[in-house]
Amino acid sequence: MAENDARVIEAVQADITKLAVDAIVNAANSSLLGGGGVDGAIHLAAGPALLAECVKLNGCPAGEAKISGAYRLPCKFVIHTVGPVWRGGGRGEEKLLASCYRKSLLLAEERGLESVAFPNISTGVYGYPKDKAASCAIASVRDTLKSCASVRRVLFVCFDGENFALYRKGLAPA
Ligand code: ADP
Repeated sequence: MAENDARVIEAVQADITKLAVDAIVNAANSSLLGGGGVDGAIHLAAGPALLAECVKLNGCPAGEAKISGAYRLPCKFVIHTVGPVWRGGGRGEEKLLASCYRKSLLLAEERGLESVAFPNISTGVYGYPKDKAASCAIASVRDTLKSCASVRRVLFVCFDGENFALYRKGLAPA
């Protein structure tokens, strides 16, 4: 859906590895050496050269983000961010999740990128409640975009119907 300032934030239901955007975001673990879920799908589709580059990135703490090439993927870059593991909500999970979205967008901005696609970070194995994660993600992206000039288009890529419905509702005009 269209936002002000000709910026667009939209929800799509898709496999993030198929998207020819400037950058896709990987919900990685802190080793950055691959894992299951969307991380596994991204490494599988990118090929072994992605792992070879990730080895040199020296890991990444929760809430931070690092950028790499995309190799066999149709996008140009992969931004690796590490979401929080949900531990009930009292361990700074919300701040860390908001930071994943903010730091990823700022990295894209630094590189002059225009379009960024995010998966639903932390809502798989890391167990973050989907409704809370969606509100946090939407608020963080809306807020960060205010200070972005080059990033014009953000996609929330939902793999499952429940997340897709949550994002469509969250992005609908009030
Ligand atoms: P986390 O460890 O951050 O919870 P997961 O990879 O387990 O990461 O899940 C994050 C989200 O990514 C989940 O909502 C999952 O359904 C979704 N997902 C898994 N594979 C893909 C894919 N190929 N494209 C987009 N989203 C995916």
